[in-house]
Amino acid sequence: MLKHLLYFFTLCTITVALGQTTNQSVVAQKGDGIFSLLRAHDIPYRYIDSFIQLNKEKITSGNQLIIGKSYVLPIIKSDSVTASINRKIDSTSIKPEIKTELLFGEDYKNFTVKNDTLKNAVYYLIAGHGGPDPGAVTTYNSKLITEDEYAYDVTLRLARKLMAKGATVYIIIKDKNDGIRDQRILEVDYDEVCYPKKEIPRSQKLRLQQRTKAVNKLYLKHKGAYQRLIVTHVDSRSVGKNIDVFFYHHKNSKNGKRLADHVHTTFKEKYAKHQPNRIYSGTVTSRSGLYLVKNTLPPMVYIELGNIRNSKDQKRILNYDNREALANWIHLGLLADYSGRK
Ligand SMILES: [Zn+2]
Repeated sequence: MLKHLLYFFTLCTITVALGQTTNQSVVAQKGDGIFSLLRAHDIPYRYIDSFIQLNKEKITSGNQLIIGKSYVLPIIKSDSVTASINRKIDSTSIKPEIKTELLFGEDYKNFTVKNDTLKNAVYYLIAGHGGPDPGAVTTYNSKLITEDEYAYDVTLRLARKLMAKGATVYIIIKDKNDGIRDQRILEVDYDEVCYPKKEIPRSQKLRLQQRTKAVNKLYLKHKGAYQRLIVTHVDSRSVGKNIDVFFYHHKNSKNGKRLADHVHTTFKEKYAKHQPNRIYSGTVTSRSGLYLVKNTLPPMVYIELGNIRNSKDQKRILNYDNREALANWIHLGLLADYSGRK
């Protein structure tokens, strides 16, 4: 208790120090993005709009900053400072707790909940395809590889990161004997089931209906909570041979678009930082024709992580470090969306 009080008082002192009345400005360095800049200056993400407003003539159409230009930081209002302090206390005052999820497999089943930043968030994760439907299929070094196994691996890694921050996570498509696999070739099987434990039908229509129903039922149960659905595929089936990460949302869902934008922005920032020479052309678009986009209730983002049949994308997706990075970037985008929620 004393420790918590001390922490609280320390933060109060910071508040007083933060009570600035004039705007500070900073010069954008290589690798800086809007989010990283706000993060570096302890400005909550919900100030993103005021940041853009203050600097609109120096932000590119793709929401990028220009290296060497000076950017004005928004002033944090005192009530928001208090709110962010309360959130900080919320998320730091819990005792680390070790939890177990058998779906993550032997090596990953235990994880530590270090903070409860996401304790009020509910996520539904759907790895594309599964059961009798492996999704896109190809061979690598004459071994069969399939889309569903790779989408599932990224999904589990994402689930683990969200759960480590206290989120409630429903892994809708699941396989009790796969787990997170640090391997290049993920063995193909056909025994995935749909939440809670339903056999996945062969017909595409029934398959999509089944997972939609599962999510919508849970959504009603959690009504009122912050709830988001993330669907992952590795086939870029609708964008020809494009080799980037694409994000789709429902055209009438403001929250869905915001969610997709947050994850997309994180990807752009990460690419700029880690692969500055790679031209990133991933986009956010509305694709309300996709069954899941159209029929599921929670705000959602549908992510194409690449095309497993494309040799460049294969390189990215077969390396498990890259799958971990993809999961991490999605998770950071989700965190940004959550902390900027209205
Ligand atoms: Zn697919």
